[in-house]
Amino acid sequence: MASATEPEGGNTIFGKIIRKEIPSDIIYEDEQCLAFKDINPQAPVHFLVIPKKPIPGLSKATEEDIPLLGHLMFIAQKVAKEQKLENGFRVVVNDGSDGCQTVFHVHLHVLGKRQLSWPPG
Ligand code: 5GP
Repeated sequence: MASATEPEGGNTIFGKIIRKEIPSDIIYEDEQCLAFKDINPQAPVHFLVIPKKPIPGLSKATEEDIPLLGHLMFIAQKVAKEQKLENGFRVVVNDGSDGCQTVFHVHLHVLGKRQLSWPPG
């Protein structure tokens, strides 16, 4: 629910993507979430799955968000299949400064179509 000070989808760049105020390459949308291609891809396939609810980060989720977080995970693998990531993929959630989070609207990165290494940097 948007407040008087916060528009539907929130005040970050992802809020603008949710409201279609700026263009993005949307590959999936339903009433709860959106998946779109990352503007600075780190793998041949790199898309983001975001809730329409503007949760600032994974560490800011509450118990009421449990079903929504599960939905995001399910959609991540569904869209990964649609993107033909049959050899596997990685799902990443960056949180806070140590986690290198730059957009404060929780999102799942889904990366694939190349051999990824471990541990991550
Ligand atoms: P974070 O660093 O917060 O985990 O990831 C934010 C991601 O959002 C980055 O991978 C960045 O490339 C992506 N991003 C930032 N701004 C935009 C934008 O305007 N459009 C799209 N499609 N991706 C964006």
